[in-house]
Amino acid sequence: MDIQTELETAHLLAAADTSILTTAVRPELVMERGEGMYLWDTDGKQYLDFVGGWAVTCLGHSPTVIQEALAKQSAALVHSSPSFYNKPMIQFAKLLTDVSGYDRAFFTSSGAEANEGAIKLARKHGSIHRGGAFEIITTVNGFHGRTLATMSATGKKLWEPLFAPKIPGFKHVPLNDLDACLAAINPYTCAIMLELVQGEGGVHAADVEYVRELRKICDDSGIMLIFDEIQTGFGRTGKLFAYEHYGVQADVMTLGKGIGGGFPLSAMLTKEAFNIFDVGDQGGTYTGQPLAMAVGQAVVQELIRLELPLNAEQQGCYILERLHQIADQYNLQHIRGKGLLLAFDLPEAVGPELVAACLQVGLLINAPNPLTIRLMPPLIVSKTDIDSMFDLLCCAMDSIF
Ligand SMILES: *Cc1c(COP(=O)(O)O)cnc(C)c1O
Repeated sequence: MDIQTELETAHLLAAADTSILTTAVRPELVMERGEGMYLWDTDGKQYLDFVGGWAVTCLGHSPTVIQEALAKQSAALVHSSPSFYNKPMIQFAKLLTDVSGYDRAFFTSSGAEANEGAIKLARKHGSIHRGGAFEIITTVNGFHGRTLATMSATGKKLWEPLFAPKIPGFKHVPLNDLDACLAAINPYTCAIMLELVQGEGGVHAADVEYVRELRKICDDSGIMLIFDEIQTGFGRTGKLFAYEHYGVQADVMTLGKGIGGGFPLSAMLTKEAFNIFDVGDQGGTYTGQPLAMAVGQAVVQELIRLELPLNAEQQGCYILERLHQIADQYNLQHIRGKGLLLAFDLPEAVGPELVAACLQVGLLINAPNPLTIRLMPPLIVSKTDIDSMFDLLCCAMDSIF
């Protein structure tokens, strides 16, 4: 590394220190470039990415299809206005409804916004069909976003005291506890909302029987069922959508992260019967934004063309196999997950230390809590990448244990 780049990085970090609002502790490096499975910082150091931009960069970093979609669409139309249709908006809605089994799409820019839409739709449903019911049942350790309403929906203990008063009308029940869910249902309940695999909560899957029972309960009582597939959607769990593992669909499904491959984009999909907003109930300056729509279309088409859900399933199995091989040596517990949303528990609460040691040797992994390591690489990951990951991971673990 030459002095020039070292100075530039020091300058950037000093500026970051005084100009970026403090919301996160970030390592002392600046990401500059990405390609496929790798990122490079301003000092030219290379990182093998098993965080995948937080389960986002499904096609890897800076894929050609996104570059081309952005170049083509930005030359034609960057933005029209939410009050007009535009071509990619219609084409993308058509594509999504064709591949998802849902009928209607509403587009936003972040996962939290998609969930806000679902929460509003649930309350609308309650007001029309359940006598003004407004309560939504969500799960303990579920995660739905960082707006006030989605923080209120999120079942994270640490968040409970924050930003009081919370939005009322959310009840949290333990995942996979049907009796707890039944006990929480009352005449005020308008919806049940859950992730089929809790992502931020540490990779915990809903049981098949539990989800099927929830579907039945909702059918019998006219309660709306919402699957938050923001993390599990678009091939992450080895199917295009995680609900395919369960054989039942929700009434509403929210999507984010992988849908844009790194471009800010999210969607709420609904069944026809839930096309119940009145004009003006929901909107947003960037709904159906042409650049986002063109990118989403390109990403989803490419993901299907390359059969990445299948690759996620196969490579996920290989990662699990390799994890089981080293489990005894490093005392790894509860190896779990589906496709490329995987996790294991460490013998001690040294997650942050292990993440830092991996960063040191050029590997990005995530610790959703101090005891747990989560892997969520781009869906293009190959066996060779996985072998490289294990070399780096074991090297980092040797330095800690
Ligand atoms: C990431 C995530 C969200 C929030 O998405 P943002 O784009 O950060 O707003 C919501 N639900 C789930 C399941 C997520 O993983």
